[in-house]
Amino acid sequence: MGEFELIRQFFQPLADRAVTDQLILGPGDDCAIQRVPPGRDLVFSVDTLVEGVHFPEHYHPEYLGWRALAVATSDLAAMGAMPVCYTLALTLPEADQNWLAGFARGLARASEAFGIALAGGDTTRGPLTVTLQVHGTVATGTGLRRNGAQSGDLVCVSGTLGDAGAALDFLAAPEPSAVQQQVLSRYHFPEPRLFLGQQLVGRASAAIDISDGLLADLQHILQASGVGARINAQDLPVSAALRQVRGEQALELALTAGDDYQLCITIGQEQWSQLPDPVKQELTVIGRIEPQPGLRLEGAPRIAAKAGFDHFGSDV
Ligand code: ADP
Ligand code: MG
Repeated sequence: MGEFELIRQFFQPLADRAVTDQLILGPGDDCAIQRVPPGRDLVFSVDTLVEGVHFPEHYHPEYLGWRALAVATSDLAAMGAMPVCYTLALTLPEADQNWLAGFARGLARASEAFGIALAGGDTTRGPLTVTLQVHGTVATGTGLRRNGAQSGDLVCVSGTLGDAGAALDFLAAPEPSAVQQQVLSRYHFPEPRLFLGQQLVGRASAAIDISDGLLADLQHILQASGVGARINAQDLPVSAALRQVRGEQALELALTAGDDYQLCITIGQEQWSQLPDPVKQELTVIGRIEPQPGLRLEGAPRIAAKAGFDHFGSDV
């Protein structure tokens, strides 16, 4: 199967289903064309996933399609952007039709769920690697950044943390239990917090998506903003499923495990009190921004010591 036949059969249909008037020209020409409406900024980011490094070897192709687009689109969520379109650079060891059909199915489901259209790509032979560039827009000058946190702001996270990290233990389980399946689905099918990010535009002072673990990613906000924070591990949102599969270690995973793709934001108290209830309900306050640099972790001294943090209070 040639490159063009492969594109026509598996990837062109994804572009044909596109429902955006901002993608003027999709796959098939030398470039795609995106129209950025007046009063909007173009927001874009690229992510590469390498087999054996960013996803397991022989990983289910449909899961890979979903996961690759979800991971890339999560960066748009963290900026408060509306997704528009993406390009796909795909490096394949061989043109396995079953694999391609599964991968395209996962991509199609994710494209539809996130409202983002395939605009073009590149297809090459080599070790399995998926690179996605995602494009979105925000109202001019309003993109959420990492550098706006101020002393006194609340630190909040969305959803629950640690579930996807717990799934790593069960990826190879032949018959995962119901509760193991719950955490597995959080790894296979992350859901970028697009709507939440958009609701936080003009309200949050800083935002980041949690791809490497809360402690690591919150520190990116602190460094970019030139501030510090104090958070309490006991306030972290942890799912019942995570507690069930990991017991005592649930908190450690919630603090340090990646792959959840929830949002971590900072927000002024005045802005917080004015948030619409449905937005507030998506968030949990876990701490506060302080003027002196560094991250101070309360409520989990054993974990804090292990991770090299200043700590206060006691493990419960
Ligand atoms: P060029 O040589 O001009 O870069 P290509 O031969 O690489 O063009 O690609 C031809 C067309 O097919 C382009 O419009 C490109 O965007 C599209 N395309 C190539 N690979 C993919 C892919 N994996 N998914 C979607 N579109 C693709
Ligand atoms: Mg090319």
